[in-house]
Amino acid sequence: MNIHEYQAKEILSSYGIPVPRGRVALTSDQVERAAKEMGGRCVVKAQIYAGGRGKAGGVRLVHNPEQAHELGKELFARKLVTPQTGPDGLRVRRILIEEAVEISREFYLSITLDRETSRYCLIASAEGGIDIEEVARTSPRKIHMLTIDPFTGLRPYQARRIALALGLTGSICEDCVDFILNLYRCALEKDCFLVEINPLVVTRAGWLMAMDAKITFDDNALFRHREYPDMLDYSQLDQLEITAGKYDLSYIKLAGNVGCMVNGAGLAMATLDVLHEFGAQPANFLDVGGGATREKVAEAFKIILQDSDVKGVFVNIFGGIMHCDVIAQGIIEAAAEVHCTLPIVVRMDGSKVEEGKKLLRDSGLNVQIGENLGDGAARIVAMLKSVSGGPVTERRPCQS
Ligand code: ADP
Repeated sequence: MNIHEYQAKEILSSYGIPVPRGRVALTSDQVERAAKEMGGRCVVKAQIYAGGRGKAGGVRLVHNPEQAHELGKELFARKLVTPQTGPDGLRVRRILIEEAVEISREFYLSITLDRETSRYCLIASAEGGIDIEEVARTSPRKIHMLTIDPFTGLRPYQARRIALALGLTGSICEDCVDFILNLYRCALEKDCFLVEINPLVVTRAGWLMAMDAKITFDDNALFRHREYPDMLDYSQLDQLEITAGKYDLSYIKLAGNVGCMVNGAGLAMATLDVLHEFGAQPANFLDVGGGATREKVAEAFKIILQDSDVKGVFVNIFGGIMHCDVIAQGIIEAAAEVHCTLPIVVRMDGSKVEEGKKLLRDSGLNVQIGENLGDGAARIVAMLKSVSGGPVTERRPCQS
């Protein structure tokens, strides 16, 4: 779960981490008032769930409250498109107005969960304020990494080693040690998947400060933090993902045109791979889970059909706990409700599979039954081709 920069900074501040003075605004009048409070000259920062705002015009220095008002109006009126938002961009509903800090040096610092080692990993670089993936690719030696042992936690000498590697000395090095230790405490106590400070700056006056902050909470730990969902800005989320969440369905929007309904993450990944292999592009990843009911399957199917990019649906379900006839009933019910005429391919196996297939065949829907995963994928590609005159991509040869 993501939160905005201003919320992340509030959390960091509660851990004793220095951040610039700031105010959040929901209207351009509030932007102007906040700029007045900051003394006129300030930085106006659009709050979206994506980085790269600076280059897209979402972070700008203004010199007086009137200029802040104009910029606020402009930002609230349009979507911000950055390399991290995708081509559609994101609406700006909140703006952070911050004191303009005189920066002398910029660094990169983050703590993230490393899935390989199942431990927190501290990453730091003297090349801050820019795309860290690019630094990792072009100059990997400029990145310092430390895997943190969960039993000992992060020790001060380890934090000092990182601060020294960043080229910091004297009192600012000791400030950096405190900064890093506090950041680790925050990551641990708040169950963060990622806490990223980019840039961490040294100001002209010689202070360390978090100039930007990104926090992603670990979704698996949300049950321990009942207050987190209240921090969500729904304007930043895909509306279908929100609806899916209400029905406890895992839905992820993808860039293609084949809606995919599957049960289980492993089967979902395999389905996406095989669709790709046959030249189709998945429009989403919708996992109905193991014990879905007919109603849940119907809701899942309707969510898929609400995506205007979807030109055909591929259902790949193993009926273990959930019987195939229940799945078929859910599909038929949802398709009838929304008058679906799109091509549908269903590949199902397991309990009551013959009953399920019969229901589908008798349904009058534009549906074909796939005998296996490959056959199902080939069928949806062929059906899409007959509708649109061509598959989405050419079939690629098998890699393995
Ligand atoms: P993004 O990463 O989305 O582009 P940042 O918060 O990193 O946004 O801001 C981009 C740049 O703007 C920073 O690298 C920093 O140089 C500058 N900046 C951000 N906030 C301030 C501030 N309060 N005072 C001065 N400069 C700032």
